[in-house]
Amino acid sequence: MDATEFRRRGREMVDYIADYIEGIEGRQVYPDVEPGYLRPLIPSCAPQEPDAYEDIMKDVEKVIMPGVTHWHSPRFFAYFPTGSSYPAMLADMLCGAIGCIGFSWASSPACTELETVMLDWLGKMLQLPEAFLAEKAGSGGGVIQGSASEATLMALLAARSRATRHLQATRPGLTEAAIMEKLVAYGSDQVVATLGTTSCCSFDRLSEVGPVCNREDLWLHVDAAYAGSAFICPEFRHLLNGVEFADSFNFNPHKWLLVNFDCSAMWVKKRVDLTGAFKLDPVYLQHSHQDSGLITDYRHWQLPLGRRFRSLKMWFVFRMYGVKGLQAHIRKHVQLAHEFESLVRQDPRFEVCAEVTLGLVCFRLKGSNKLNEDLLDRISSAKKIHLVPCHLRGRFVLRFAICARTVEPAHVQQAWAHIQTLASALLEAAQE
Ligand SMILES: *Cc1c(COP(=O)(O)O)cnc(C)c1O
Repeated sequence: MDATEFRRRGREMVDYIADYIEGIEGRQVYPDVEPGYLRPLIPSCAPQEPDAYEDIMKDVEKVIMPGVTHWHSPRFFAYFPTGSSYPAMLADMLCGAIGCIGFSWASSPACTELETVMLDWLGKMLQLPEAFLAEKAGSGGGVIQGSASEATLMALLAARSRATRHLQATRPGLTEAAIMEKLVAYGSDQVVATLGTTSCCSFDRLSEVGPVCNREDLWLHVDAAYAGSAFICPEFRHLLNGVEFADSFNFNPHKWLLVNFDCSAMWVKKRVDLTGAFKLDPVYLQHSHQDSGLITDYRHWQLPLGRRFRSLKMWFVFRMYGVKGLQAHIRKHVQLAHEFESLVRQDPRFEVCAEVTLGLVCFRLKGSNKLNEDLLDRISSAKKIHLVPCHLRGRFVLRFAICARTVEPAHVQQAWAHIQTLASALLEAAQE
């Protein structure tokens, strides 16, 4: 493919993508395929001779689309949202074109510097304490990780290394191995301190956990993977209170802030806690600026060496939406969740199972777990909408998460009417 063909195919692809998003409601939200459906549809080896582009695109509709779960359909209410917007997709194209591997400042200065500034922008949107910002050459700063899970692992490793250093400083005779086998990580059944748990979007009280951690010199990592995006709205910012006690904080703009996967924002109060744990400095990665204290080599902040130019997505999205546009997106979703909640509450056969704070409603039919499992089976077989369950204190509960960027009140109302119809049929069948 040369540049001329790329221009043509690129325009076609943009049209294909816009058609896909515009027409996504016409596609069944959850696919009909069985496990293993794909292998028989394509050759068992890569082609020796090049295939034609037209044939590849035909196969996208024939092979790929039948097996796609349409996460951006306004009938998708499963898991949590995953961010998607046109500005982010365009920025990702550019990221692919620049195609740098930004492990050090020198490996592509813009890649590093934009990331540092974007994490400051985002930190300010959330009103994070200044200690987490890199601006004004403080000791904190932010980094983009691939996922919240990676951020948690990074925090855990940094905590281990800090605890080891602290212990060795006070008791020089202790070996690292002797310390390692005694270290303890505390968590609840939701893992680390969490703002907006995955199952029901509940919140740990940082203002109670935090002072204990600080007093005992424990590393406090806070995971707000989903809920974090909402803190850009002043009315939800109080949910982040207590973050000042944390050593590290993380949330996923790729969940609810219209930035496509992957983009998990992580901040630390003390950069050296991370870089001290991961410093990797072979001579071929060194450069003349690295000890100036002015620049960041992000390879010390993460597990992999290589990293993409992911901050471009943030930059495009923040500028194209503005903080107000992003706030409007969050507010619309929260509003829709409350609308669904009130529909559930109006039907005496149902109950709401957890406080609705943001965009998630946990609900169930009053009755046995079996009854609710059967209801979910019916919803899943009908494939008109897609949602997933959770367990709350031994009870089987349905989760209705407002997900798509384009979801409107009508979709929520239709989804509820559909659930009600299936519930009526189920309850009738149960009576017979
Ligand atoms: C979604 C979620 C995660 C996992 O996020 P990844 O980025 O996929 O690792 C972790 N914690 C919470 C609370 C979540 O909601």
